[in-house]
Amino acid sequence: MAAVPEKKADTAGASSADELTANLVRAANSLLNAELPTGKDWAYLTATSPAFSAATATLARQAKALLQRFRGWPADDNAGVAAGLTDVVDAHLDRVEDSLGELTGRSAPVDALRPAAKRARTKAPGVAVKPQVNFPVPVDNHAPFVPPPPVGVPDGLLGRLTLDGATHPMADIIREFPSTVWALALRPPVPPRAMVETPCTWVDTPEKLDAMVDVLAKQEAIAVDLEAHDLRSFQGFVCLMQISTRTEDFLVDTLALRGSIGAALGSIFHDPRIIKVMHGADHDVIWLQRDFALYLAGLFDTKQASELCGNTSHSLAHLLQLFCGVSANKHYQLADWRMRPLGEGMAFYARSDTHHLLYIWDTLRHQLATCPPPAPPPSEADDDSEVDAMMYPSTPPELGALPAAWSRSALVALKTYTNSPLSSDAHIRVAKRVGVPLSARSRAVLRALVVWRDGVARAADEGIGYVMPNRLIVRLADAAPEAAPEVAAFLRELAWASDQAEVARTADHLVALIRRSKLDFQAAEEEERRMLDEKQQEKARKAARHRQRSPSPQAAAPPQVPLGGLEADGRPAKQRRRIAVTVAPVEASALGAALGGADAGE
Ligand code: AMP
Ligand code: MN
Ligand code: ZN
Repeated sequence: MAAVPEKKADTAGASSADELTANLVRAANSLLNAELPTGKDWAYLTATSPAFSAATATLARQAKALLQRFRGWPADDNAGVAAGLTDVVDAHLDRVEDSLGELTGRSAPVDALRPAAKRARTKAPGVAVKPQVNFPVPVDNHAPFVPPPPVGVPDGLLGRLTLDGATHPMADIIREFPSTVWALALRPPVPPRAMVETPCTWVDTPEKLDAMVDVLAKQEAIAVDLEAHDLRSFQGFVCLMQISTRTEDFLVDTLALRGSIGAALGSIFHDPRIIKVMHGADHDVIWLQRDFALYLAGLFDTKQASELCGNTSHSLAHLLQLFCGVSANKHYQLADWRMRPLGEGMAFYARSDTHHLLYIWDTLRHQLATCPPPAPPPSEADDDSEVDAMMYPSTPPELGALPAAWSRSALVALKTYTNSPLSSDAHIRVAKRVGVPLSARSRAVLRALVVWRDGVARAADEGIGYVMPNRLIVRLADAAPEAAPEVAAFLRELAWASDQAEVARTADHLVALIRRSKLDFQAAEEEERRMLDEKQQEKARKAARHRQRSPSPQAAAPPQVPLGGLEADGRPAKQRRRIAVTVAPVEASALGAALGGADAGE
């Protein structure tokens, strides 16, 4: 594939995908908003109210019809979208099931839908083997991450690096950068070229990579975005890098070029004189470090900027609509970006994530200059004064919110990647997220299961949600069955559970683990209490330090995102949550070995 063909995304397949997604999201939202009764209420209503049972039956029928249409939809070009959509459906099925499942058990209406969903989501072609098998440096999910030194740093800045193997190596450079640009004069915005007239190059060889770098080296600013995959990988990996200049688009195959990207692009990413414009780069910053040893010197984050301008929404889709009149097709976001070749729709979506971004940057800077600089709240929950200084830089008021946009972007660029061992309270967070109250005994079981899952996922290099999604692991802990067939029934809901022998082996292992943790649950409870006490004390110490700093405490700033529910683009509003799905058939040997080999020992 030399160049991505110029075509609009709304081919027949994609437009039916649009329609389908809209329906799915609508259906999902109405399910979520329905506040379905649970447990005894559900059983009581089913038994006594024909209207209620008719309503739930209709709900099930409608959802099933949607899924069946979905299943019949041709998977070739849009298989990645299919995988993404199924994720969305699956997550909602999980939620509905949680509401209905308590007494109805496995005959809940939702369960009837599951086989259809499962069949649909195993369909995606284009990913024959896990790409990490071919990575030049094998993935290590156990070693702590040590930030590697950046290459290609301009000579004049070499003395400013911090190379202690612990700190962000470009921290000084990144911190100082904002004040060198925030007062620069603004030029009129440069509207983007029409996408159909813009050349797009698929970069998948070292030669093409070098040719692209030659082009980038001449730019004052480039737009950058990444697409990643983390369902079938413990830490996740970058699959695609999109870069746009004012006149052309590049799609970089970061799977094919994984070993060459860092050295080739260092001179671009580590030179603050070439501005990197990105939207919501919080994840991208750490992915670039993790996969390519790339840091972002000279970052402008359009999401940070938008927040300072008081726009009504800060999603890229909103800014595209607002400034460019472009409707983005954000459900491609959850596509399987490992697929090769990329479908046309996916390639078009990927390009449009960066194509208009330099113009959005131009426009936002003008908007920022007319916005008031953000005022520090009288009391900030965070007692890090350096962060405060970058959140609320003290600058001449005539610069408006521009300095804050640059320095908040720098704060994003200062993030560092960590590959930490499982934290001792991970199971508490899992239970909280799922929101099912657990007895002390089930909490002990959950803890053991979470430790087991972590070990398996690291060893087999799979996402934890692929090994066992949070909702299932909590249900299993809650039921805590001590017989292998019962455990096996839970396991059979999983995508990897096609191999009977593997299921049986895992069930035996988990039965032993469940029995042991039930016996030890009091010790586990003790330890949990000790840990929570420590956390409380740390919190109190922090609060005390904070009171010393600011004599008149006020209410903390309200959270920026609404909790729960779905946004229009289907992204869970609360936080980015990876939803379990299977795309390619599992390599039974790797997971099998890990499942058998990992122990739940603490
Ligand atoms: P974006 O910055 O919107 O292009 O998203 C970049 C990558 O983030 C995607 O390729 C996904 O891997 C991941 N991602 C984005 N949104 C979500 C979400 N709602 N849940 C899980 N992963 C996401
Ligand atoms: Mn992004
Ligand atoms: Zn993107």
